[in-house]
Amino acid sequence: MRHWHEEHGAQEWRTAADEADRRRGVVVPAEELLGVAEGRRLLTLALELLDKPASPGALTAARSTARKALGVIPQSKPDQLCHEHRWRGRSSWPERPPLEVCARPTCGRCVPLKQARASADESTEM
Ligand SMILES: [Zn+2]
Repeated sequence: MRHWHEEHGAQEWRTAADEADRRRGVVVPAEELLGVAEGRRLLTLALELLDKPASPGALTAARSTARKALGVIPQSKPDQLCHEHRWRGRSSWPERPPLEVCARPTCGRCVPLKQARASADESTEM
């Protein structure tokens, strides 16, 4: 089976998509990403649990909380599956713009775009 990037037009699409991302620049500064605040909250909680490691369940809860933090802290770059997901969904973009972003929960490219879109949606609802 061929990899997505071996499909006809995939390399050109990726180059153009990456260039468009570069031109757009920073959409939401890292300090303002919701996942950063949530990750900080979870890691603080994990640290508090580690303050009393002998308490029943504290270590398990600390490990679990630290794992949850990794599930929300955005990556610094696009997720490794981001380009493939967007390549496969590209035909639906004009009708369904949400597919222009990937479904990876911590994608460094798409998390800021989703957050910007959500706050734009909120401001148009008012
Ligand atoms: Zn993505």
